[in-house]
Amino acid sequence: MLSSSRKLIIGNWKMNLDYKASLSLAQKITKDLAKKKIKNNVLLLPDFLSLAEIVKNCKNKNVSYGAQDVAPFPVGSYTGEVSLESLKKIGCKYVLVGHSERRQHFFDDRLVAEKMENIIKHNSLIPILCVGESWGQRRAGKTTDVIAKQLETAFSRIESLKGKRIVLAYEPIWAIGTGKNILPAEAVVVHKKIREIMVSKFKNNFPKELEIVYGGSVNLKNYLDFKNIQDISGLLIGGTSLRADDFFKIAKNF
Ligand code: PEP
Repeated sequence: MLSSSRKLIIGNWKMNLDYKASLSLAQKITKDLAKKKIKNNVLLLPDFLSLAEIVKNCKNKNVSYGAQDVAPFPVGSYTGEVSLESLKKIGCKYVLVGHSERRQHFFDDRLVAEKMENIIKHNSLIPILCVGESWGQRRAGKTTDVIAKQLETAFSRIESLKGKRIVLAYEPIWAIGTGKNILPAEAVVVHKKIREIMVSKFKNNFPKELEIVYGGSVNLKNYLDFKNIQDISGLLIGGTSLRADDFFKIAKNF
């Protein structure tokens, strides 16, 4: 269950901003947060290139940083990859795993289990594991099956989550970047199911904290629909997180 009333508001900038634009957006958000007190936790996910500089220069007690992806192996000859340890050393706290865009364009489905195992084994960063169904799967009534399978695969190499902090993100693929919205009542059903699956899988080895955030075209018009709903512990926001004022408003009022 949600451990506190502090929600996790995540901004996933994807590959939308270059180095300079990333830095200036992070500066704007952290400056705004320094001026006004908010109770929620903000988590920003810039691209790899700007991450280290942002973590170093944009400090704020309400803001954490994370990476949009990580290598499935600890260290070594893996051209083009970034390791958990490197991310940890620069001050990253979280890492996204299995975002649908990575599953779709970079065949990450097959790597999710290795990545989760690596993260949990090294106990270094908090994983944010994304799960979600396509429109076709939803229409066919397969949402629960798809998500159960994604969770089963992602945790297939992990026996215990005892003492760990895990974030799961329910992101229906058809709602990501499309402007299409799920009804909050429908999201709640899936969030509940996700928790049930995790409880039944891990039983006594359940994590210390399991937060389940929602993502999919969240914006200024609809974010309040997801507020004060049991087991929606926060939001994962793509497009709207690129607009500092809108993102700040959501982080403040959710
Ligand atoms: C996302 O990137 O995970 C996401 C939910 O994007 P958007 O808010 O643009 O739909």
